[in-house]
Amino acid sequence: MGTPETKRVGLEAFAEVQRLIVVAAHPDDLECICGGTVAMLAERGVEIFSVNCTLGDIGTREAGILRPALAATRLAEAEEAARLLGIRRVYNLGHHDGELVASLELRAQIARLYRLTQADTLLTFDPYWPGQIHPDHRAAGQAALDAYMPSKMPLYRPEQLAENGADLCRLTRVFLFSTQREPDVFVDVSAVYERKVAACLAHRSQFPEGEKNLDWMKEMDARAGEEIQVPYAEVFKTMPVW
Ligand SMILES: [Zn+2]
Repeated sequence: MGTPETKRVGLEAFAEVQRLIVVAAHPDDLECICGGTVAMLAERGVEIFSVNCTLGDIGTREAGILRPALAATRLAEAEEAARLLGIRRVYNLGHHDGELVASLELRAQIARLYRLTQADTLLTFDPYWPGQIHPDHRAAGQAALDAYMPSKMPLYRPEQLAENGADLCRLTRVFLFSTQREPDVFVDVSAVYERKVAACLAHRSQFPEGEKNLDWMKEMDARAGEEIQVPYAEVFKTMPVW
């Protein structure tokens, strides 16, 4: 993870953030990947908006469960997790799980939310990390980055700007997660780790056996923590934008 030359920073990388939008693919991505960082920023008074591109409607090994029922369960679980983390609003873009594509339609859906939320900072998947095996994660990250420039331009989908509260996109900072491409931000999340775990466990359909289903996440966060000598850390890669 990283090279000795990579300059590392912690939570101070987010010092100027006031309104944060997180674009993920599935209803439990945010919680498992950056739930600790989000919880700490919410405590500081940052307005946080969570966007899930898919319904998460194939996320089960239970035979016989119907996709619409699973989608409804997962929407409710995302709301519960959002309450635990202090997220102001959760949006779901309604795509089918396992079939997400960085289409023009998805780009426009995300651009609309940049314009409506007036977020100043974006967190999303690193679509350029070659180890990203989940196509939905790649597609969500790609579409989130692709929406950045057009959403700042008045002639792109101008009808979006007529919506109540909407204005041109104000994003000025982008951080990528789920990456091993030399991450440069290591956030010590040890102090809020219980809350991160609780938010993940709100997704009961995904972690039916409770905390032991999260061993993989704890190992991942502990490995990142070793890099900065703390129990648990979450990592991000700064993406320079203008
Ligand atoms: Zn996912």
